[in-house]
Amino acid sequence: MKLTKSEIIKLLLSKDDEQAKLHASAALVRNENVGQKVYFRGLIEFSNFCENDCHYCGIRRSNANVERYSLEMDEILECIDFSARAGYGSVVLQSGQLQSKSFVDFVDKIVQKTKEKYPEMGITLSIGEQNRKTYKKLFDSGATRYLLRIETSNRDHYFKLHPEEMSFEKRKNCLLELKDIGYQVGTGVMIESPYQTVENLADDLVFFKENDLDMIGMGPFIPHSDTIFSGHATGRLETALNMISVLRLEMPDINIAASTALQAISPTGRELGLMAGANVIMPMVTPKKYRRGFLLYDGKPCQNESSKDCMRCIIARIKSAGLTPALGETGDSEYFKKRKRG
Ligand code: SAH
Repeated sequence: MKLTKSEIIKLLLSKDDEQAKLHASAALVRNENVGQKVYFRGLIEFSNFCENDCHYCGIRRSNANVERYSLEMDEILECIDFSARAGYGSVVLQSGQLQSKSFVDFVDKIVQKTKEKYPEMGITLSIGEQNRKTYKKLFDSGATRYLLRIETSNRDHYFKLHPEEMSFEKRKNCLLELKDIGYQVGTGVMIESPYQTVENLADDLVFFKENDLDMIGMGPFIPHSDTIFSGHATGRLETALNMISVLRLEMPDINIAASTALQAISPTGRELGLMAGANVIMPMVTPKKYRRGFLLYDGKPCQNESSKDCMRCIIARIKSAGLTPALGETGDSEYFKKRKRG
């Protein structure tokens, strides 16, 4: 569907009956284009060391209250074994951003070992901005998907959320390079982050489409007490769900995640995300003892559950949304498959 910007804004602001209609039509578009299956990505937050200082983020460099950790290789491989046994067709290796050679080599080794043991498993990286050579090396080792949220598609807004040393152009360029190398590329934004307007959100949706992205993950902005935005309002569930639905109408065959942050603001947030048009869910696989070290925002859910608890919980959530858990499937983005066929 090709909506004008003013139509997008109207839909993003819809409430009550209009909103129910919007979600129902997005769910229908999802069912018709990618089916009723929900794909799993086992989320392994393997290190919280970070060289960036994003104003909103709980694990940013200058937050001295964070106890820094990095999982040992054996611990990561256990998480990957768990994901394989659980039937998660894909894992996401997420961390703070480090560009050092030792970090990149470590990630490369994880990718190689995973590929060796589970050749069919989808390996997704989410380790921030890296140079082209690094992206290529990791791709050649077997990582085929990459998540890098643009956070906002508006350059001025980007600079309000990030320190001067970071650059919107650089981040955008990373997305283009990842695509060029051949990755299945995901991006996304925080919803109702400080200074963001509904026009910005409409532009974000246009940005995703214009840049031909394969997967999108978006969640509400949630303040972290150790940041300058600690007193800021939390993003609203309604806006986050409307964003998912309008995105599904605009990009019917991409993968859309029902993000963990949705559940932080509503106990059934992730089910609602699925009912509003999402088709991907990311159960937590990070070992329980490290979870409090990856507090991106206050009130992050799933802190006290084991990975097994998270598996059972998520399967129940998918079923309660009337959808089918796609265990054992890698769940490539249909849009990506079409893009590759040309
Ligand atoms: N270092 C990686 C991973 C970042 S953490 C990278 O740069 O891509 C993953 C995502 O958490 C971020 O992209 C951001 O969108 C989200 N996040 C961070 N702080 C947040 C907050 N306060 N509220 C909501 N989402 C947040």
